[in-house]
Amino acid sequence: MSDRPPEKTLAELAPASYECPSCGYIYNPAKGESKNNTPAGTTFEELPLIWNCPVCGVDKGAFRSIGAADAPSGFEENLQYGFGVNNMTPNQKNLLIFGALALGFLFFLSLYGLG
Ligand SMILES: [Zn+2]
Repeated sequence: MSDRPPEKTLAELAPASYECPSCGYIYNPAKGESKNNTPAGTTFEELPLIWNCPVCGVDKGAFRSIGAADAPSGFEENLQYGFGVNNMTPNQKNLLIFGALALGFLFFLSLYGLG
């Protein structure tokens, strides 16, 4: 349990997909590719240098990385942002909520006071 790998985002954990610039074919490492007998789980980097596009035959080197197609890109990272409320403790949240309610109530009373 002590040798945990460093934490990574989901996008980093998932191997990147690569797109053929010529025909738009996308090599998805999670699926592999049957024409060249590439088993699922083979990353693009692991493909042999002679590998080429199974659709149009373009060289492997011409393919462009389009990032991890299946992973929610940077999703874990984004949890840190948003409204900031997500990082608060429950006590802080309660203080914020009840503080706002109390202010609203005072404002409501002041309207009656004016009348
Ligand atoms: Zn192609």
